Amino acid sequence: MRKTIIFPILAICLILLLPAFPAHSRGLLSTAMEVEIGKEVRDEVLTEYDLWEDEDDDALIQELAQTLVEYAQPREGIEYEFYLIESEEVNAFAAPGGFIFLTNGLLDFVDRDPAMIAGVMAHEIGHVSQRHHRDAIEKGLYHRLGFALFLEVLDIDEEWVEIGGAIALMLIEQGYSREDEYDADEQAVLTTYRAGWNPGEGIIEFLREIEKEYGSGNELGDIGRCIASHPDTDRRVYFAEIFLEEVVHSELFEPRPLPTYGQSD
Ligand SMILES: [Zn+2]
Repeated sequence: MRKTIIFPILAICLILLLPAFPAHSRGLLSTAMEVEIGKEVRDEVLTEYDLWEDEDDDALIQELAQTLVEYAQPREGIEYEFYLIESEEVNAFAAPGGFIFLTNGLLDFVDRDPAMIAGVMAHEIGHVSQRHHRDAIEKGLYHRLGFALFLEVLDIDEEWVEIGGAIALMLIEQGYSREDEYDADEQAVLTTYRAGWNPGEGIIEFLREIEKEYGSGNELGDIGRCIASHPDTDRRVYFAEIFLEEVVHSELFEPRPLPTYGQSD
């Protein structure tokens, strides 16, 4: 059954529609503040969903996570945490600060294929490493508070953390910008490539599978917006493949094997 995350403050729903967040206000939100906001979101998600408790599934996710974090674009102050949550929805999403969630519905969808799961995880890590949450949170706080108060918020305060969390949840529900999705796809290709895994079997294969099953404009949850419909999946496959060509270029690339499902220590 689909569960919907309820925003603590509904009024915030309109905030991201407001234009003109001044350039000089960008990048002011500290990583520490982003992590605090991420914890708020993590707690909200874990209140709404039960953890999916399966030893083999968990072992695979944690093993993939360890390698992906090692090869992802580094970001100081971020300690990634990965959670499997119980939902039939084909879904994965990242909260600010490095808290990443995957559903058992997603594992079912890819038949627990380690390469595709790694691709999706690398995509979500990409949203964090490229700081995609920060702009939306800053914009939302700025419009709610005005510049003077916005500066004060940069000191961690419980109330603002809660508001920031509501903004981040809205971002997760409504989806990132087209540019951010391409960016996260590129990071997924790069990260898996650096890890020695074939990106063509990871995020690109996953996007193809999603398109095959659901096409565009599907009714998937967050990853429906994040992974499938926005931007169009075929365009994302196209751009990711071009990027893959650039990354691999003329080098001889011999991928090493991924962890095998059900055989993790
Ligand atoms: Zn995404």
